[in-house]
Amino acid sequence: MPLHHDLGDNPSPNDFKIAIQLLISANHILHYHGLVDAFGHVSIRHPENPKLYIIAAYDPGAPALVSSCSDFIEYFVGNSEPAYPPQPKGYSERFIHGEIYQQFPSVQCVVHSHSEAVIPFTIAGQTVKPVFHMAGFLGANGPATFKYPEWDHLPKDMLIRSPELGQRLAATFCTAQHDEPGHSVVLQHKHGFTCIGDGIQQAVYRAIYTQKNCLLLKDAMNMAGGDGSKVDYLTPDEAEGCAKIIGMTQDKSFRLWLREVEVDRLYRNMEGIPDALPVGGIAEGT
Ligand SMILES: [Zn+2]
Repeated sequence: MPLHHDLGDNPSPNDFKIAIQLLISANHILHYHGLVDAFGHVSIRHPENPKLYIIAAYDPGAPALVSSCSDFIEYFVGNSEPAYPPQPKGYSERFIHGEIYQQFPSVQCVVHSHSEAVIPFTIAGQTVKPVFHMAGFLGANGPATFKYPEWDHLPKDMLIRSPELGQRLAATFCTAQHDEPGHSVVLQHKHGFTCIGDGIQQAVYRAIYTQKNCLLLKDAMNMAGGDGSKVDYLTPDEAEGCAKIIGMTQDKSFRLWLREVEVDRLYRNMEGIPDALPVGGIAEGT
């Protein structure tokens, strides 16, 4: 069993078990919504040891096929080496995850996607900015874009498969004024995007609504004759207000997404679905 802790013997089995249950389902949800195919991945920081993170192994690897705790590997945040070797082969791009967890202690979940709705915006010179209330988390100026460095010693495969590339991608989440991530999403030129969250619900929400925003923006640009400058984006105040208030309702969408993959026979979650998740919602008078 690649996971070091048996789910039943863990000192706090409920928290750890729920985290693994939700991580399996998050893999399925991201596939159901077209964020990942055979490629792309989601990880969590270990709920009991912040110096570790957990991500699926290369086999079965495809997020839709992940089904049990035995499909995951625990890695050190510091170097993305397996915490409990020997382990089966891992994702080559796990350095995206390790270096983000290393650089930002507040991050608890990372999603990496090759979304076909998002990639065109990374190569067409069109900035992604929020066009509806569900995407305020993008910030009024939109995500930063990571460009693969033109270093002679690097292979030209665009993959983030070394610590130095992971560090460079992670640094793209920073704004000039802060060490903490100023961006929740970073686009990757000719590749896709990566987003972060304070937990699985937030990171999955951001992934899905980054993609939806790009689909809406594409439609709006088409109606505007292809001219992105004619599109009416969220103002800075609107983006901030929407991010704050809509963020309180992420639990609602996540419960729907959990059920969607639970009843779809492609997906198997052998660890089960949590009985009840905390209910959020917009506080009255907010
Ligand atoms: Zn990738």
